Amino acid sequence: MTYLEFMKQKENEALENNKEDSAVVLLLEHICGLETNALFMKRGDKIEDEIVNKFNEIFDKYLHENQPIQYLIGTSCFYGYDFIVNENVLIPRFETEELVENILYKYDEHFGGKKVEVCDLATGSGCIAITLAKEEPNMHVVASDISKEALEVARKNNEKLGANVKFLQGDMLEPLKGKKFDIFVSNPPYIPENEVVDSLVKDNEPNLALFGGEDGMKFYRIILQGLRPLLNKKALVAFEHGYDKKDEMLALCKKYFPECKAECIKDLEGKDRMTFIYVGDF
Ligand code: GLN
Repeated sequence: MTYLEFMKQKENEALENNKEDSAVVLLLEHICGLETNALFMKRGDKIEDEIVNKFNEIFDKYLHENQPIQYLIGTSCFYGYDFIVNENVLIPRFETEELVENILYKYDEHFGGKKVEVCDLATGSGCIAITLAKEEPNMHVVASDISKEALEVARKNNEKLGANVKFLQGDMLEPLKGKKFDIFVSNPPYIPENEVVDSLVKDNEPNLALFGGEDGMKFYRIILQGLRPLLNKKALVAFEHGYDKKDEMLALCKKYFPECKAECIKDLEGKDRMTFIYVGDF
């Protein structure tokens, strides 16, 4: 059987089990130690028994043990970078890549070329902080999380990807006291506590990183309430949030930053996903 035939067969198997067919390529790349293009070049080659066996061992878990493919492989791709992930960190999401992209774009527009102090609160795997530091060397990034286990993963990612992020452990704004930032970003846990969540997510990803109080807004309230002293005169604040929270987010911005422009931006699916606050002279 060729690689291509094998992949088709496994993709069908995934779909028959109501799983993502995209997991097949991710897993095969991982087993072969190849990138997508290199794997594609092998599509006509006969697939080796050893590869088939290794693949099946993990694939069976994916199909029947309700585990995310990213945890089984141990990595997740974010903004083109391979991040180490395990059950102590949230698996980075596509929407968060858009948050990063928007921040980079707004940095160019409003701070272009200047050195800036950046904070990523609730960094988890470190995906936001590390990607920003890699993509924009003028960003000096500090990242925090309450979870020591998550920070261990984030530190490994920082080293693996050759970034220079500084990590701090502690609850919300507490470890950041006395610091000043030009850009402040957070993708805090934001699922309302009693929302029904897919068991693949709820039973595997850290619930600490998923749930944001009764209405999913708990952490934005805590952050916005204490944020002002941590910001420089001109500062950009960026949040990812639930798709149905535009009005609540804008109301909170108005409460704590009444004189500032705030805007909600849609993700590629057309959902209200990010809110930006422009503090000071923009
Ligand atoms: N900042 C990390 C991410 O965006 C973790 C977020 C979280 O744990 N809620 O993936």
